[in-house]
Amino acid sequence: MKKGNNVRKRAVGYARVSTIRQASQGFSLLSQSQRIAGIAQERGWDLKMFQDEGLSGYHMSNRQGIQSLITEIKCTKQIDYLIITKLDRLSRNAKELLQLMELFRKNGVTLISLTEQLDDLTTSMGMAQAQIYGAVAEFERSIIQENVRLGLANKFQQGRVISSQLPYGYFFNEQHKVQIETATSEVVKFLYKTYLEGKGYRKLSTLVREKFNTKLRPVNIKKILMNQRYIGIVKTNYGKRQDMYPTIIEKQTFADVQTLMTKKRQNCPRRRIKKEPQLLHGKLVCPVCKHHMSDNRVCSNGKTYNYYYCSVGTNYPRQDKAYHSYRLKSTDIERKVTETIRTIFKSEVFQGLFVKAVVRQLSAKKKVKAYEKHVTDRKQIFMQFENGELTVEQLKERLTITNDRDALRNRQRKVNLNMILGSFLKLGQQGFVDLIVSSITVDKRKNVKSILLGKGEFDLVHLQKELL
Ligand SMILES: [Zn+2]
Repeated sequence: MKKGNNVRKRAVGYARVSTIRQASQGFSLLSQSQRIAGIAQERGWDLKMFQDEGLSGYHMSNRQGIQSLITEIKCTKQIDYLIITKLDRLSRNAKELLQLMELFRKNGVTLISLTEQLDDLTTSMGMAQAQIYGAVAEFERSIIQENVRLGLANKFQQGRVISSQLPYGYFFNEQHKVQIETATSEVVKFLYKTYLEGKGYRKLSTLVREKFNTKLRPVNIKKILMNQRYIGIVKTNYGKRQDMYPTIIEKQTFADVQTLMTKKRQNCPRRRIKKEPQLLHGKLVCPVCKHHMSDNRVCSNGKTYNYYYCSVGTNYPRQDKAYHSYRLKSTDIERKVTETIRTIFKSEVFQGLFVKAVVRQLSAKKKVKAYEKHVTDRKQIFMQFENGELTVEQLKERLTITNDRDALRNRQRKVNLNMILGSFLKLGQQGFVDLIVSSITVDKRKNVKSILLGKGEFDLVHLQKELL
């Protein structure tokens, strides 16, 4: 395939730009040509450049430069290398690209692509081939994504809506244009107006339910109050437009709402103080819906109060059957839980039981490993015996040694466990709850019902009742 070593290798280069954007992002013909020329010079090859510019042609047949390049390869049959900066410079179509690869292979042309790092100097032929196909597949995926993006960008530039779902208050007419929906747009207007009167999202949710018989969750109300489409502005990755959505809200009203929102946020120091996770963070279970409870703090009159609450329940509008508000003052519940833990830990019976349970869990894994080692050791000894490498006496001796070693390992394991238990005691309250307590359930009267440890097989409250 390679021509004689004494002759200077002949390379062709190919560069292409299709859009102004590419030219400005460092894909310019000049920069491509310079990089290609650099490689040819470095390796002492003759170079002839081909290029295409400013063509939107997705297919190669429309490109003069690449057609000349193909002719050059087919007719002269003396080209050793084709250098490009990136595979997609040749074609943005995977099928065409593979056809080109086949043409290169037939004519003994080695492809060097700088971006995909295809280069016969760094890889063996087999590797290079596999790499090319891998690169083509990768390329195909990125092109599909690129085409989707281009399609969306195009759609957006033509003033068409990209998303299939419109914000609350709008609908598509028969021409697929965005129109104001009378009934729901009234709700939107009501929300903006009432928010400015000082109502919170939850209150608004209730009011909307009463006035319009419409279910809107507080979190969605917040989104509505922040959506610029209601004043006719759309901002996407593809740019900004003001002609897609007819306005429902006046610009001043929208601006006032944003100002009030910011002000409300700033009034509460919550966002400025780094929120420390509370002791029972992620451990408490709501007695109503069984979801894990969140923790939060409220501020009023400059004081902050920590509490746990069911975020699932409060996210429904108040009239909804699923709505429930369940809160626990952090200080109260934390005191109850730590008291329970403390009393039970004082019990000697419990201490014995607990240590045993921990030992059992911790040693289970180690036992498996030790046993496996034991088995392989023994297999080896028996194999040596079968092969005649050991006498009966030696066999007995070796087996005794492994037994002693196992006994020693068991003693070491006990020492390790004591160390583990020691460090376990050093965990402190937060560490204990984080690591050992899996969940805490409470009843509706805010009493601790269970404190489950590990995978839930150990309930401290239950144990307390039995032991004390
Ligand atoms: Zn709940």
